[in-house]
Amino acid sequence: MPQISHEAPTPDFSTDVVIIGAGASGLTAALAAAEKGAEVVVLERDASPSGSTSMSSGFVPAPGTRFQVAVGVTDDTPDLFCADVMAKSYGKSDERLARLAAETIGPAMEWLADVGNTEWQVLDDFLYPGHSRHRMHAVPEKTGAGLEARLLAAATEAGITIVTEALAETLFVGEEESIIAVAVTRPGGSTEVIGCKALILACNGYGGNAEMVAKHIPQIAEGEYYGHAGNTGHAVAWGQALGAELKHLSGYQGHGSLAHPHGILISWALMMQGAVQVNLDGMRFSNEMGGYSEQAVKVLAQPDGIAWNIYDQARHDFAAAGFPDYREAVDAGAIRSGHSAAELAAATGLPEAALTETIEEVQRHAMGKDKDEFGRDFSGVKALAGPYFAVRVTGALFHTQGGLMIADDARVLRKDGGSFPNLFASGGAACGVSGPAVEGYLSGNGLLTAIAFGYLAGRYAGQSVAQE
Ligand SMILES: Cc1cc2nc3c(=O)[nH]c(=O)nc-3n(C[C@H](O)[C@H](O)[C@H](O)COP(=O)(O)OP(=O)(O)OC[C@H]3O[C@@H](n4cnc5c(N)ncnc54)[C@H](O)[C@@H]3O)c2cc1C
Repeated sequence: MPQISHEAPTPDFSTDVVIIGAGASGLTAALAAAEKGAEVVVLERDASPSGSTSMSSGFVPAPGTRFQVAVGVTDDTPDLFCADVMAKSYGKSDERLARLAAETIGPAMEWLADVGNTEWQVLDDFLYPGHSRHRMHAVPEKTGAGLEARLLAAATEAGITIVTEALAETLFVGEEESIIAVAVTRPGGSTEVIGCKALILACNGYGGNAEMVAKHIPQIAEGEYYGHAGNTGHAVAWGQALGAELKHLSGYQGHGSLAHPHGILISWALMMQGAVQVNLDGMRFSNEMGGYSEQAVKVLAQPDGIAWNIYDQARHDFAAAGFPDYREAVDAGAIRSGHSAAELAAATGLPEAALTETIEEVQRHAMGKDKDEFGRDFSGVKALAGPYFAVRVTGALFHTQGGLMIADDARVLRKDGGSFPNLFASGGAACGVSGPAVEGYLSGNGLLTAIAFGYLAGRYAGQSVAQE
């Protein structure tokens, strides 16, 4: 249980900066604080650090980087990126945080390439919904697990201590609301107390806490949670107990394309390339171009909360070539196919007449013969052509986007507007830039604030300790 204590602790050992959570945010913060000369200890509840970061696709949006220039993207700027972030949330994201993230992420990514063992590649073969430039960066493995592994290796090389199997539960508060120690529970139930001069909360949000999800985002409570199970809302609970300002707790990243029951992410790039979704009646039910996050809710509203992604050989080949998750889905037997619509209906159990009619309708849209009733613009999309493919999917919660409000130096803000002297937050523990609702999530907003705010939190926490 997350708790606050005002008692004087007896630390087992002490360090300069303690970071709770060893995902992308905690590890970025650790590298940044260590670079400022601070001694850093990262506390991680798992035996082997992974977090939602390892489950993710690992795609990070950043404007104006040297990696973009290398592939010919020379006109992207923090202003453009910030405008895209704000547009996706219909202007409801916190604009100060959106600007802070947009201005910080480019320098942070270039710095991570230098010190964090990351070699960024820009994905320039298609645009994610809502991004006006090719700005999605990934490590060569094109997986979050690859990103996490690289950051862990860099942290080890930098001499950062990562204490695993250490569930942080109690924060000790000293004079003037400073955090002076953290108590962790070990697997056998014993506790250890670590003294600190600064604390960074990088323990993500509350997607793994069903009670909190039902309270703050009931619309997705019936959906599967497909983030890291250990993200149970400790940062929010501590923040509430401390009187911190919390914002946009109803914001989250959903996803409308999680293979079911296999539990494998099917990239939305398939939709961007011309795939469509049908329900169990074989009927389309939405404009799939709105964004994968809000599509989670639309899929869950269909019979049994299920949809089938329908596409063809060319799109199948595209996904198999570019996405490790998709290849995993192929290996798991999640992908069905048929030479004709009738064969695909037999392979999926979808009603043949309705599926055939839907495929023919989508082909007519792509050939410009008529308009889509859901308003999707099919111009420039090559018409589906057999053999056809399908994968059964559901809507899921990937991670929560609300959290602790932070100042420009990533210090946690109090409700009265001031900030805590040595408490910082980053990544999913902090308020994100997606506003208060599911449709506000622009692709990459998760790792954006994990890395950008982690970079700021680490630098300022490290700097404050070095100045003492
Ligand atoms: C399937 C999937 C795909 C995604 N794809 C993308 C993508 O391509 N691009 C993108 O930008 N975002 C993506 N996201 C979102 C992204 O993964 C997260 O926003 C990001 O990883 C958050 O990083 P973090 O460091 O804040 O949290 P995490 O990586 O979750 O790390 C938090 C760590 O804190 C630990 N922890 C929690 N509580 C405690 C405690 N009390 N004591 C000790 N340790 C604790 C956890 O065990 C965990 O290791 C995706 C998410 C999912 C689920």
